[in-house]
Amino acid sequence: MIPGARLVILGRQGAGKGTQCVRLSRHYVVPHVSTGDMLRAAVKEGSELGRKARAIMDDGGLVPDDVMIDIVADRLARDDSRTRGYILDGFPRTVGQAEALGEVTAEQPLHAVIDLDVAEEVVLRRIADRRVCTDCGTNYSVHAPPRYDWTCDVCGGEVRQRDDDTEEAVRRRLDLYRKQTAPLIEWYAERRLLEVVDGLGATDDVTKRLVAAVDARTRRGFAAGR
Ligand code: AMP
Repeated sequence: MIPGARLVILGRQGAGKGTQCVRLSRHYVVPHVSTGDMLRAAVKEGSELGRKARAIMDDGGLVPDDVMIDIVADRLARDDSRTRGYILDGFPRTVGQAEALGEVTAEQPLHAVIDLDVAEEVVLRRIADRRVCTDCGTNYSVHAPPRYDWTCDVCGGEVRQRDDDTEEAVRRRLDLYRKQTAPLIEWYAERRLLEVVDGLGATDDVTKRLVAAVDARTRRGFAAGR
């Protein structure tokens, strides 16, 4: 049996987090907990959370920490996360969120925090080319579109550019990443949880690097009885 894992994946928008998290979630048989996907689902449903989040997201800003922390704490309390683990994608994004996550995971600590590293000029190009299924969130690009006429290969949904992938919103998000999220790399390095993985290259090669980095950590974690 493949052991589960409790992971956080950090990385700039466009580093390939979404694609790699789906692959890691299949490999380790753990849920992919993407706060961006959860918020987009809330916007689509028109729930109160969705109405609050929509303008902030379209603008490339950050939803307040207390709102995000409640959403994630609820999700990590579910049975699947408690028994096998999870891959957190898009959370934490601020030191405040990381501190709250530390409290939520006090009993079952993270095995690793991975920084999927891709330079800013590369991600700018990737985001301009990115297309996403509006139903299931599968990622495509103008260079690797779905087989039929922008219809998702996985679920048949409509594939198009994300509302917040405009150049202005992307610059704002990268700026926020530099100011608010990049300091988390140092924060987790100090706590000896950080692994930096090069995100450049073929998708399969990046997945192999990620699995190797995670396996090295989980083996140590399980050997220590965690
Ligand atoms: P993502 O798909 O991770 O790029 O997230 C899309 C948008 O959702 C972000 O630009 C934020 O507006 C919002 N969002 C997602 N996760 C968080 C978070 N942890 N904290 C605050 N806002 C978030």
